[in-house]
Amino acid sequence: MLRGAPDIRGRPSLTTLTALALLACSPRAQDASDTMAAQEMSAGWIDVSATLDPARTPVYEGDAPMKFEFLRHMRTGDFVTLSAYSMGAHSGTHVDAPMHFVATGASVDRVELERLMGPARVIDIADSVQAIDADELNRHDWAGAKRVLFRTRSSLRGWMDSVKFHRDFAYIAPDAAQLLADAGVVLVGVDYISAEQFGAPAPRTHQILLGRGIPIVEGMDLRPVQAGDYEMIVLPLKVAGHEGAPARAIMRKSGGR
Ligand SMILES: [Zn+2]
Repeated sequence: MLRGAPDIRGRPSLTTLTALALLACSPRAQDASDTMAAQEMSAGWIDVSATLDPARTPVYEGDAPMKFEFLRHMRTGDFVTLSAYSMGAHSGTHVDAPMHFVATGASVDRVELERLMGPARVIDIADSVQAIDADELNRHDWAGAKRVLFRTRSSLRGWMDSVKFHRDFAYIAPDAAQLLADAGVVLVGVDYISAEQFGAPAPRTHQILLGRGIPIVEGMDLRPVQAGDYEMIVLPLKVAGHEGAPARAIMRKSGGR
């Protein structure tokens, strides 16, 4: 939101228009070097966030609908484009903070950055597997991984980019969650809207991970990556006192710059 932007119901003042014009026309002599620096910094980083779009982002059954609207639009002659949106806190790629299922757990604004950034291992789970239980987990090499991300049927089928909600997504079973927590994993990620089995009698997987202060990244779109070691950064919106928030998640191959 622009500080000092005109009230959307009223006409802009001359002062505001002048300020906006000055902003828009400020000299950009640094453009070329800025672009080069940005390209250098972004080299190798892969976006593994789902796109938030009511037409293509699935919403968990029963959760709040996504509503995106433009209050004003330059296409229709307004002097500014301005929108508002509302959606559940667990929309698209998002972070579950401990508070989601632990009464005294940290809210999303208090999840430590150290957990949200650092080495991560992507584990490929076959399309035929729905339950990632302890046996399935131990079929893969996850020893020593600080952050574990499961790339499952949901990525293979493009489900984070398809508006239909699928109940038969792959989930982390409680016994696998317990192994991960006991091994000192600091973050767990999955590629559909929940890490928990749909219709599970109790949210044991969430309780086990969040009970140990382990944030869960849900709804990642892991189509662009493969099994292996990466660096990751996932930054949820800093919403005070809430249990979760949408996030941008990026990864790059370890050692690749
Ligand atoms: Zn969630």
